[in-house]
Amino acid sequence: MGTTTYTYLYGPVPSHRLGRSLGIDLVPYKICSYDCIYCQLGSIGSTIVTRKKYADNDRILEELQRKLSDHSQPDFISLAGSGEPTLHSGIGELIRRIKMLTTVPLAVLTNGSLLWLPEVQEDLMAADLVLPSLDAGDPTTFQQANRPDSSISFDQMVQGLIDFTGRFAGEVWLEVLLLAGISDDEPSVRRIAKLVERIKPARVQLNTVYRPPAESFACGVTHGQLCHLSSLFSGLVDCISDAPAPAAATESTGLSHQDEIIAFARRRPCTIHDLSTGLNLHLNDVLKQVRLLTDSGSLIEIAGKRGYFGVPPAVDILTKSCN
Ligand code: SF4
Repeated sequence: MGTTTYTYLYGPVPSHRLGRSLGIDLVPYKICSYDCIYCQLGSIGSTIVTRKKYADNDRILEELQRKLSDHSQPDFISLAGSGEPTLHSGIGELIRRIKMLTTVPLAVLTNGSLLWLPEVQEDLMAADLVLPSLDAGDPTTFQQANRPDSSISFDQMVQGLIDFTGRFAGEVWLEVLLLAGISDDEPSVRRIAKLVERIKPARVQLNTVYRPPAESFACGVTHGQLCHLSSLFSGLVDCISDAPAPAAATESTGLSHQDEIIAFARRRPCTIHDLSTGLNLHLNDVLKQVRLLTDSGSLIEIAGKRGYFGVPPAVDILTKSCN
């Protein structure tokens, strides 16, 4: 049995940040308040800030109950998705019901853009861990990197991060993604670090672009540079590595899904969407498995065809055009 029987759940998948993470997708593909240039899901050129019931909480709880009785316990249950999970207006009720169902810690991965809304802050209060993003230290870089909905101001977004972190009883781990030529110079990073001092997260997770981004000009910095820049932050800072996440890479149903993906891609170059619909696998499951396969060199992005993956000729290695 695979994840074909689950509409909202995917994994558990190995995650650098959360160990074995059981994902719950709360919004449809690219329902998001940002249109980040580095988004691995691609760009649809539009943004959404209207909160509504995007997911069926009863169904999610039923799937979760089934999953937890089937498998060994994950390290985290993660509310994330193919977009921004706080846009699901039922997220607060869902978190409270999950906490009644299991003792597995619950994390929310959010871009943080709506944390200034009191109702969103309230909704996340029962979570154990919240992982918002901050990719810019000024409004111009914010526009360049995240391309937010026109209703979202930089100052309001930052104030939301400060207010929420001050109120939240659990931990906040702030992800900062640095982009080459956009936010990797010392003055830019110092501006972000200054805001981090006001936000006061439990830790900062420094990240960069490692996977095919929405835009070809969204390029990553080297891991060495990332670690060098980490010295500009005070407090706990992790440098997220490009290396495959440890353990569990082939556990659960992962191995057979990887075989299916390779077999499919061997027939013709395909996108993440092609794989998801063609194999009837959850989009996020495909995304995670494709990451593992590209890390191991079993799958490559087709040169000159952004977002298309194929099986490499014996010695071909994917080369990135950013430098
Ligand atoms: S916030 Fe996440 S899902 Fe939304 S555009 Fe940015 S990277 Fe993509």
